[in-house]
Amino acid sequence: MDNTPSPMADTVASRLLEVRSRVREAEARAGREPNSVKLLAVSKKQPTAAIREAYTEGQRDFGESYAQELAQKADELSDLADIRWHMIGHLQRNKAKVVVPRVVRVCSVDSERLLGELHKQLELSEVTTGKQKILGVLLEVNVGGEASKSGAPPAALPRLLEVARGLDRLRVQGLMAIPPRTDSETEAMAFFERLRALRDELGGAEVLPELSMGMSADLEPAIRAGSTEVRVGTAIFGERR
Ligand SMILES: *Cc1c(COP(=O)(O)O)cnc(C)c1O
Repeated sequence: MDNTPSPMADTVASRLLEVRSRVREAEARAGREPNSVKLLAVSKKQPTAAIREAYTEGQRDFGESYAQELAQKADELSDLADIRWHMIGHLQRNKAKVVVPRVVRVCSVDSERLLGELHKQLELSEVTTGKQKILGVLLEVNVGGEASKSGAPPAALPRLLEVARGLDRLRVQGLMAIPPRTDSETEAMAFFERLRALRDELGGAEVLPELSMGMSADLEPAIRAGSTEVRVGTAIFGERR
């Protein structure tokens, strides 16, 4: 018997299939509706050829972490008309104008000033394009209280929501978090449940339907805790360059 892996085994296509089945299995085990958890393919530091390959397999939503890299890739792949870009990394206000015209959503909003800047850029681009655009927003929460991480402290969320409600081109859809690294699934669960509890304190799924939590290593506990979207990079694309 020949035990060498088939050449298909390590392609973006095959890994994407495997991640999809992990998500479906986790949904089933958690008693969640099939296909209730969305998959955001995190393509930061991956070549555009890999993004095309995932696109060919039906993936449409891609997350990028760096403004300049996102802009470059979005422009290079502009022939993929229905691809959707999401900014998932920390966004400096002076880069908002690079990102806003290219993305459907910014998942890493953690300050009033960034909310204001995004809105301002939407208004400005409306003047030049003549088209109104509504931008999706997730508020990023620093659930672990880590000094090294971005994200708003939980106590700042009510004020951020109030500010966002006054900005009519922004739609806050939910919360996002990257919990502290841990090898313990129980510990990971506790952080995911904390994000869900925060969402419930802020009005529940009716007000904030999206909970973006879970990555390559911990999508299962995240789904068990109520994630509506997992952001998966390495498990789809392999190691980043
Ligand atoms: C890089 C990144 C991911 C994906 O991480 P993997 O471990 O490669 O799946 C998810 N979310 C954010 C915000 C990231 O920066």
